[in-house]
Amino acid sequence: MSRYPPLTQEQDSRVTKLVDLLQETYLPLPPQLQELQRLTPLAEEQKASTSHNPVRQYCYCFLISREWDLQKAFEMMQLTVRYRAEHRLDGQRVFPCAISCKGWDQEAIRKALAKGEGTEESLQPRPTDQRLDRLCAGIAPFFSYGFHKWDKFGQPVLYMMIGTVDEPGLLESLRHMANVGQSAEAVLWEVVLHILAVGESLQMYQQLQYSAGALKVDAADGLIRSATIVIDLKGLTYKMLWKPALDLFMNTLREIFKYYPQCMYQILIVNSPAMVMFAYKIVRGVLPPGVQQKVHIANEADTPEALKKWLDEDCLPDFYGGTCHCDGGCIHGFDPTKKEKTVTATETTDSASTAAHDEDERNGTVRPEFVETEDITLKAGYHHKRVFPLKNREKAVWEFVSSNARNVTFAKYFVPEANAKEVNWAKAQTSKLEPFLVSKASLSEGSDEYTAAADGVIVLVWDNRQSWFTAKHLQMKVFKNDN
Ligand SMILES: [Zn+2]
Repeated sequence: MSRYPPLTQEQDSRVTKLVDLLQETYLPLPPQLQELQRLTPLAEEQKASTSHNPVRQYCYCFLISREWDLQKAFEMMQLTVRYRAEHRLDGQRVFPCAISCKGWDQEAIRKALAKGEGTEESLQPRPTDQRLDRLCAGIAPFFSYGFHKWDKFGQPVLYMMIGTVDEPGLLESLRHMANVGQSAEAVLWEVVLHILAVGESLQMYQQLQYSAGALKVDAADGLIRSATIVIDLKGLTYKMLWKPALDLFMNTLREIFKYYPQCMYQILIVNSPAMVMFAYKIVRGVLPPGVQQKVHIANEADTPEALKKWLDEDCLPDFYGGTCHCDGGCIHGFDPTKKEKTVTATETTDSASTAAHDEDERNGTVRPEFVETEDITLKAGYHHKRVFPLKNREKAVWEFVSSNARNVTFAKYFVPEANAKEVNWAKAQTSKLEPFLVSKASLSEGSDEYTAAADGVIVLVWDNRQSWFTAKHLQMKVFKNDN
């Protein structure tokens, strides 16, 4: 996939119109653009090219982000310029940065990007005893993320290990670090601004390196001005779809799309559990086509292959099947051998959580993180049944996928306490359950929950009796949730 698909004549003329608006409105040009021009000396033949010319490319990004609507693109440009000025985002010192950033010599980047002239201060390294450093250190035990090398086009790659985020811990630490009256979201935004600033600097440095012939990547079609995002969902559990955490994540994304045009080239969602693949298929249709094209999603088995499509092996961390082994790990603080996030002060210790596990087993509930994925083979003419006694308001949760996307009949029944008493569940025939049917459908995958409205028994049945010949293979997770 090309980073810069060919423009139509109409699109190219809109770029020219936005360049005119830019030059009428800003004299001198916005500082960010001046910086991009300074670091991108232009060959004569590149002056007319939108993807190589810093001014035209700058305007192009706003147009792409606003789906070629000239007026909206111009409004976004003005908003961005104002926002960057208010928050002094241009000319700030970035390196050494406060986040994990592996694969570069940060001192070399700092020197390469430093202005020849300029104040003495702007040439100095960033002081590392700032509020920003305390914020990043405060978040680190709960969330691993960082820049690591680049993709086949030379774009820096940002990894976010979302599957191992300790959401309550992260939110609590953000609240602890907030200034009086400041929201957790606003604290996180301070860190996000730094991540974005690091990303912008890395892109400029990658372009410099490429122009100097020091970087062997496929960047001939245009300037390196975006990053690739890898979102790793390994370890994600049903419980993590927790509203306060989702709100925090979505609102942060919304802010990024508001002020940062075209900052992500693509989003690779890897090690995705079945329930997310399932949910994404549903939401995909409502995303704008531009966003749909950016998102690629892979389950655990397909992850190394999916990443190698976009990243060379020497740029890919070893835990994804690449050959890179950075000192201290490719993503600082991330331990790929651990299923759970490193134990921290606010978490239970191993023995305590094992005790909690035993306790849960005794009262019949299991924590999602202890639920193992089961592989079930349904022979032709057979069915698979799971039975959970539920008290009022208790919940059963499930997700399943059939291999080769073959449908099975999935039914759920809820039998009230009074009717459930005499039933021998091991032997009960599903035909006897029909009066208690809640729903039945022919599906190849599903992810849902059922909350009991009274004491009783939930029965989940996967049925392959319609089939005379074909065995179906199901991967499933089913559990009773304790909250
Ligand atoms: Zn590495």
